[in-house]
Amino acid sequence: MAQVTRVTDHGGGVWSIPVPIPDNPLGHTLVHLLDTDRGPVLIDTGWDDPTAWDTLTAGLAACGTSVSDVHGVLITHHHPDHHGLSAQVREASGAWIAMHAADAQIVRRTREADPASWLEYLEEKLTAAGAPEEHLAPLRATRASGRAGLPGRRAALPDREIVPGELLDLAGRRLRAIWTPGHTPGHVCLHLEEAHPAAGEGAHPTAGEGAHPTAGEGADRAAGRRMPGPRMPGHGRLFSGDHLLPEITPHIGLYEDPDDATVTDPLGDYLDSLERVAALAPAEVLPAHQYAFTDAPARVRALLRHHEERLAGLLALLATPLTPWRLAEAMEWNRPWELIPYGSRNIAVSEAEAHVRRLVKLGRAEAVPGSDPVMYQAI
Ligand SMILES: [Zn+2]
Ligand SMILES: [Zn+2]
Repeated sequence: MAQVTRVTDHGGGVWSIPVPIPDNPLGHTLVHLLDTDRGPVLIDTGWDDPTAWDTLTAGLAACGTSVSDVHGVLITHHHPDHHGLSAQVREASGAWIAMHAADAQIVRRTREADPASWLEYLEEKLTAAGAPEEHLAPLRATRASGRAGLPGRRAALPDREIVPGELLDLAGRRLRAIWTPGHTPGHVCLHLEEAHPAAGEGAHPTAGEGAHPTAGEGADRAAGRRMPGPRMPGHGRLFSGDHLLPEITPHIGLYEDPDDATVTDPLGDYLDSLERVAALAPAEVLPAHQYAFTDAPARVRALLRHHEERLAGLLALLATPLTPWRLAEAMEWNRPWELIPYGSRNIAVSEAEAHVRRLVKLGRAEAVPGSDPVMYQAI
């Protein structure tokens, strides 16, 4: 049975396909299709699920192409709602898959991970964060049962590396990789350095140029024209992945790596990365969830303000020494702590730790000497 997928034509050879994420309040991943002279290139692919696959393939048909024609896949970051279907797309089309080296490393590690040692790492980490016995017991039980499974073992190893700052090798398009670590260590945004079609350039030829509409588009691309338009000030378009979303703050936790004890500062990375994309001032942002929007600098300012307020709130809580677990319990979430499911509590604690890491780095909080599990306090 042919499936109908509602796609959006953003103009200038750019489409978006909403690919469903099963049982997830986010609803969809917006998979973007970028037309190139060598065939369509996808930016992200969606969740590894039969319904998502049917939606993606029907969406490609609605864009006038097919999955077997896909020439390449660019992945903003390794999360399963972005990279899940990449293997299947590659199988159906022979397309290459490109990703930043730091996220490619996570994919490799997850594929090779032994579930039992991963659970052991998780248990140690949560114990150190002050998790209570009733939270640790199920982990121990799963490990003892020997029936632990890990998601992401089927995720595709990429064939190519996305190198920060470089133009991607795409025939007839000008797309530059902007490294935006924070949500993941290898998250990238992709900046389409071409005039926005709504600005009167590119895909829609104006009156008098009608004789060679497609030639006009090609010439604009080849020249990499950077003319800001009257209605859409700014420069080009930004595929922002999960880095910059219109209404959601992406999760920022610690970069989990059992084999690397480097003390990283993901929240600091994220805030720096926000300023990096604000400086680009794209005419439009094409995020991987929700909807396309304009005025990236205003959205960045709102997010910076949000994190500033959150850090101030945490600092107030740390007037009393707290473990990361206690801090997470005391923080404000989208629902009361008692209603937060088991797995989400792990994510919440990781987010609390990322904030504490930032405060320590700023010299505004410190570990209480000799505390075990470690407690933190405001300075
Ligand atoms: Zn993500
Ligand atoms: Zn996502």
